[in-house]
Amino acid sequence: MRVLLATRNAGKIEELRQILAEAAGGIELVGLDSVADYPETPETELTFAGNALLKARDGLKHTGLPTIADDSGLAVDALNGMPGVLSARWAGRSKDDQANNALLLDQLGDLPDELRGAKFVCAAAMVWPDGRELVVHGEMPGRITRTPRGDNGFGYDPLFVPEGYEVTSAQLSSTEKNSISHRGKAFRELATGI
Ligand code: IMP
Repeated sequence: MRVLLATRNAGKIEELRQILAEAAGGIELVGLDSVADYPETPETELTFAGNALLKARDGLKHTGLPTIADDSGLAVDALNGMPGVLSARWAGRSKDDQANNALLLDQLGDLPDELRGAKFVCAAAMVWPDGRELVVHGEMPGRITRTPRGDNGFGYDPLFVPEGYEVTSAQLSSTEKNSISHRGKAFRELATGI
């Protein structure tokens, strides 16, 4: 069976490919770079699940293939769950990771460690040509550091220390991070429903 993952992010495609290889046989996963003339889906919903479903439904509409899409972000306790679905654009539309991180550090100021709790959240959606739809969630709890550390990963990884770790998620290998990450958890649960 051919399945579309509605993303151009090669890292996400490889991660899901590995999970599917272990969890569900016989699936050929393709990304948006294999689909001609694909218009980007605007992420206009206020929830991760809503945006993941928008992207998955668009993928199905354009290709006819069963389609998976994910949406994710950081929810910071001291900011009442923000930046949430605005994570990529927290410091402005340019989606600049460094500017987002600098703004977040500024907003948390000198809050003590016990008030710097946060979690990464991922919603993964799958839609099928017969109208079936499935949405699952994964979370990775942790806290926000005071200074960026590490060169791996992307986004807020240099500021995020996963629960039970002393290092940031930017200091973990991709295999280590995928084994505990919000996206890894959501993709693994989704794989059991295919
Ligand atoms: P998207 O789901 O790929 O659109 O991610 C939205 C935004 O959330 C990213 O641009 C990052 O700012 C943030 N984000 C989501 N997942 C992660 C992660 O695993 N590490 C760091 N930042 C993340």
